[in-house]
Amino acid sequence: MTTNTLVYIEINNNKIENVSKEIISHVSKNFDDTSVCGFLTVNTTLSESLFSELRQIGLDKIYIIQHEALKDFNVEVFSGVISQLISNIQPQVLLMGATVNGRELAPRIAANLQIGLTADCTDLKIEDNMLLATRPTYGGQMMATIYSKTLPGFATVRPGAFLKRNFPEKNTEIVYFEANFDGVYEILNKTEILSTEYKPQTDDWTNSDIIIAGGLGLKSKENFEKLYKLCDLIGAKPAASRAAVELGWAPSEIQVGQTGRSVSAKLYIALGISGALQHMTGISNAQKVLAVNTDKNAPIMSCSDVAIVADATAVIEALTNKFS
Ligand SMILES: Cc1cc2nc3c(=O)[nH]c(=O)nc-3n(C[C@H](O)[C@H](O)[C@H](O)COP(=O)(O)OP(=O)(O)OC[C@H]3O[C@@H](n4cnc5c(N)ncnc54)[C@H](O)[C@@H]3O)c2cc1C
Repeated sequence: MTTNTLVYIEINNNKIENVSKEIISHVSKNFDDTSVCGFLTVNTTLSESLFSELRQIGLDKIYIIQHEALKDFNVEVFSGVISQLISNIQPQVLLMGATVNGRELAPRIAANLQIGLTADCTDLKIEDNMLLATRPTYGGQMMATIYSKTLPGFATVRPGAFLKRNFPEKNTEIVYFEANFDGVYEILNKTEILSTEYKPQTDDWTNSDIIIAGGLGLKSKENFEKLYKLCDLIGAKPAASRAAVELGWAPSEIQVGQTGRSVSAKLYIALGISGALQHMTGISNAQKVLAVNTDKNAPIMSCSDVAIVADATAVIEALTNKFS
C-alpha cells in the first residue's frame, strides 16, 4: 500500500530551506512505495524562480496556503492553518525541519491534531506503512527509534541529518488550499513585529566537501589556529568537538554533534577526537571519515574509514608543509 508523506517546505527570504530538500531527498530514496507531497505557506504570489524550483524538487504534489496574514511568522496563525490542511488531506507521515520555526510549529500542530511527535530526528524509516523515527536519547548515550500510535506519524528532522540529492524529474501538481482565516487578525493584533533577522538553518558549511575537526587531542587554542590555517590552505572548513568548544579553543558555531550541527561532508577528518556517541551523531552522513588519534583503541578509530595512530598537531603541521 502506498504511504502518503507530506513534507513542510520552509521558505525564508524567497528560498527553500536546505533541510526541506534534505527531507524530501531522504524520503524519495528510502521510503518504498510512497507518494511524496509538500506544502508551504506564502503571503503573496510566488516568484517565477521559486515556482520553477518547486517543480524541480521531486514532489508529486504541492499544496500552497496563500494569504496576506502569512507575511510574518506567527506560530498561532501558522499552526492553525497548517492543522486545517493536515486534517483535510490526512497524510500517513508528516515531516518538517527542526528549524527555529519548525521546532515552534510542530508541537502546536501535534496538540491541535492530538497526535504524537518525535522531535529532532536523525533517521527515518517506513515499516508496514508506519513511520519509525530515530533520535538521540538519555543525553545522547543511546539512539531511540520511536513510532507513534497516532496518525499521521509526525517528526521533525535535524538540519544536515540527511544528504541533499539530485531530484528525479516529476510533473508536480500545484494545488491551492483554501484555509479558514476567520479571527486571524485578532491574533495578529496581539503582537507587533519590530524587526526580523534571517539566519539560514543549513548552509554550505555543513555540506562542505572536506571538514577538518579538532578535539581535545589538539591540546590548545594555538593548535586550532594551525587547523584553521590548514583549512584555508586546502579549501576545507574547520569544526570542533564540544569539549574543545567548552574550553574556548573553538567557537560554538562550528561544534559538531548532538548539541552542535550535523555535517554531510565528503571527507570528515577528526583530529584528536575520541568518538563519543554525541559527536558521532553529527557525522553519520559524512561519506568518509579519517581519524587521527594517539590511542588506537579510541572509539572513533573503529568507526572510521581510515584510522591513523599519530599526534594530531604533527599531522596538521605535516599537511600544512605539504600544501604550502
Ligand atoms: C547531552 C550531551 C550532549 C553532547 N553533545 C556533544 C556534541 O554535540 N558534540 C560533541 O563533540 N560532544 C558532545 N558531548 C560531549 C561528548 O560526550 C564528549 O565528551 C566529547 O565529544 C569529547 O570531545 P573530544 O573527543 O574532543 O575529547 P576526548 O573525549 O577527551 O578525546 C580526546 C581524544 O584525543 C586523543 N588524543 C590525545 N592526545 C592526542 C594527540 N596528541 N594526538 C591525537 N589524538 C590525541 C585521545 O586519545 C582521545 O581519544 C555531549 C555530551 C552530552 C552529555
